[in-house]
Amino acid sequence: MSLEERNYLAELILPNIKETPDDIEKRYPERTLKEGAKVTRFGPSPTGFMHIGNLESAFLDYIFAIQSNGVFYVRLEDTDQERLVENASELIKETLTDYKIMPSEGAFSSGKYGPYVQSLRKEIYQVYIKDLIKKGLAYPCFMSKEELQEIREGQELRKEAIGVYGYYATDRDLSLEEVKKHLENGDSYVIRIKSPGDMSKQIVLHDLIKGDITLPENIIDEVIMKKDGLPTYHFAHVIDDHLMHTTTVIRGDEWVPSYPKHLQLAQILGFKMPKYAHYAPLTKKENGNIRKLSKRKDPEFSVSFYKEEGIPPEAVKLFLATIINTNFEEWYLQNSDKSYLDFKFSFKKMPTGGTLFDTDKLNNICRTYFSRLSALEIYNQSLEYYKNHDNVFYELMLSNKNILVSFLDIERNGKRPRKDIATYKDIKKESSYMFSELFYNKNTYDCVEKNINCTILLNYLEIYNENDTQDEWYLKMQKFAEKNNYASTVKEYKENQTKYEGHIGTICENLRHVITGRLQTPNLYDILKILGKEELKKRIEFYQK
Ligand code: GLU
Repeated sequence: MSLEERNYLAELILPNIKETPDDIEKRYPERTLKEGAKVTRFGPSPTGFMHIGNLESAFLDYIFAIQSNGVFYVRLEDTDQERLVENASELIKETLTDYKIMPSEGAFSSGKYGPYVQSLRKEIYQVYIKDLIKKGLAYPCFMSKEELQEIREGQELRKEAIGVYGYYATDRDLSLEEVKKHLENGDSYVIRIKSPGDMSKQIVLHDLIKGDITLPENIIDEVIMKKDGLPTYHFAHVIDDHLMHTTTVIRGDEWVPSYPKHLQLAQILGFKMPKYAHYAPLTKKENGNIRKLSKRKDPEFSVSFYKEEGIPPEAVKLFLATIINTNFEEWYLQNSDKSYLDFKFSFKKMPTGGTLFDTDKLNNICRTYFSRLSALEIYNQSLEYYKNHDNVFYELMLSNKNILVSFLDIERNGKRPRKDIATYKDIKKESSYMFSELFYNKNTYDCVEKNINCTILLNYLEIYNENDTQDEWYLKMQKFAEKNNYASTVKEYKENQTKYEGHIGTICENLRHVITGRLQTPNLYDILKILGKEELKKRIEFYQK
């Protein structure tokens, strides 16, 4: 087609588009940022739930933008209208808010480079598409589904590259008359790029994580505008990353094979490519094989899992940080007073192959995270969880705040703070015996069969004084032990076993079991003190019944 014919065709196809790429470019001026500042974007498709991979992606965008004094923005990639799910974008927004992964601009706030929802940018993409048609770099393709299927089957049979290209791209060279006839017939069409690619040539992706990757040049005449007038993801994101001045695209490595397409589109459009960082997927070991984390098999795939289990967002982020940078965990363990943002994340320390999703590691990180919070912080944070998940315990928390906070405070402030809590759920599990409403029931002593003689415990109560210091308490307990023919130290007991009924530990163990129903608890002295003498008596009597 001649230039005139192409101009005519472009008008025929996109008559309402009056602007030129230059007009658009003027509305998206360069950002004024410091040298080295990264502009990153989270580009979720609102097609369902948020999974841990999405969260990792947003977290990476956030970290690298914030640590370089750059910009992190959110762009909703909703060009696949058939796959849209109602409320999906609200869920994305809610998750980012819960996780405090706050974008500086984008779909959920505002910004100068919007709109940040791709379906609202249809005309912008069409300006570029119209321009490409005029330049003879894109063309309408009227091939039917059946024709495409037939081509595909032949290509598969002959083990050729799959798609519309070269010899198969029959509509590349339609005359204006032929195109007009199709349009008059109302035949549906897509717009394809005329790929200048050469199968024998290769391109190199300089990936920030994986290093240089050699890939074959793209030869496919990719669809850039679908039948509904919206662009494909490939086209839309290249345009958007250019106009929004993204410096660093961080995305899952399932996109590596598409990179040649994206590079070619950018070259045809005359854009400078941003840098790309393709990160490895989260994996699991199953029967000795490594597989990707799966929606069907792994509950921890969905972000909602963490909420249900009561795993705080901050702890999930710490866990993700250990995945993102292999040297993070060690740093975190050594720096108890720092935020993860004090750690300098780098692409170089990101794993290049699949990363194992290690549930034990998650659990340990959570325990360490909780061990660094104050009792009051744990109390306050977990209220929301119980409000939504267990109203009975929520009410107990409200009416027994002092008891619970004191309990959580036991052994919290020393060098090696206790690590019995990994989730909000554990708070109830670990503390339930502190509440008489939960303590007194027929299963209280189920954890072990013991036949404790309570007379000695009741005698002990006679001398027990809530106001004793821990040292006084212990001395008193030693004396009491001796008086009752129990050794006051384990050592002494071991040396003269036949002489004694047992040792001081036996009394403490029995007392612990009778008043808590457990074999292990945090420091007994504190628990006795929090419960109070009256309650201790009631519990011993309850055991006797
Ligand atoms: N919308 C794409 C997705 O949800 C984003 C890919 C990208 O970050 O470039 O997978």
